Amino acid sequence: MQKIVLQGIAYDDKSSFMKGTAQAPPLIRECYHSASANYYAENGMEIIPGIFNDSGDLNPGEYFDVETFTRNNLNKQFNIITLGGDHSITFPVFRAFHELKGPVDILHIDAHADLYDEFEGDRYSHACPFARIMEEGLCSRLVQVGIRTMTRHQQEQAAKFSVEVIPAAGFSQASLPEFKTPLYLSLDMDALDPAYAPGISHYEPGGLTSRQVLDIIQQINVPLVGADIVEYNPTRDINRMTGMLCAKFLKEISAKMLESI
Ligand code: MN
Ligand code: MN
Repeated sequence: MQKIVLQGIAYDDKSSFMKGTAQAPPLIRECYHSASANYYAENGMEIIPGIFNDSGDLNPGEYFDVETFTRNNLNKQFNIITLGGDHSITFPVFRAFHELKGPVDILHIDAHADLYDEFEGDRYSHACPFARIMEEGLCSRLVQVGIRTMTRHQQEQAAKFSVEVIPAAGFSQASLPEFKTPLYLSLDMDALDPAYAPGISHYEPGGLTSRQVLDIIQQINVPLVGADIVEYNPTRDINRMTGMLCAKFLKEISAKMLESI
């Protein structure tokens, strides 16, 4: 019955602007179980709690505790979904994932490229995870969608690592490339316009709609083998609307994973 490992990382030590994302994992779980909604995904699958091999939420003492925790929770048969936490967690999570499962392509949905070589003196800042992943050669391909904050430095980093960047400006579903290998999805909630997701730390107007992100998930036509949902900051949310959106994405990502199992 269990088919997907679920883990939470209650961690915001690497957030540059404000804290709060450490509070997200239990609240996303609460929204997923909310009596205001049901467990159905839009493809008709019922995403009941029994499909998750739930490892609970980690409060990491140190950054790389995230890697150890993920390594202990992963197994060969199951896919994995991680609830963040700030975006710094994606590097240690993906490192453990890569060790067991080998390189896959990454689809990264975000307002930010998170490609800084270092940010405010920290190479593991939430502004840096994809620079670390690319340096270590952990993925076969990195496609970024929703980007609208490309600094000169990050343009250079994207060129250096051959990152495929699809900006928010002019975005349409047709601009997405075709994937050919299994895929890992890293979803930063600030990719959405703050009108749809006010519960985030970095407001960057001009973002994607909830529907656009759902469409991106639903049109994935290769096996989706891992995912994370990060940067939900409950301290900024309004009526849990961003929490409910995270829960919706949790169900839709799970449904997409189950399609290829
Ligand atoms: Mn990010
Ligand atoms: Mn972001």
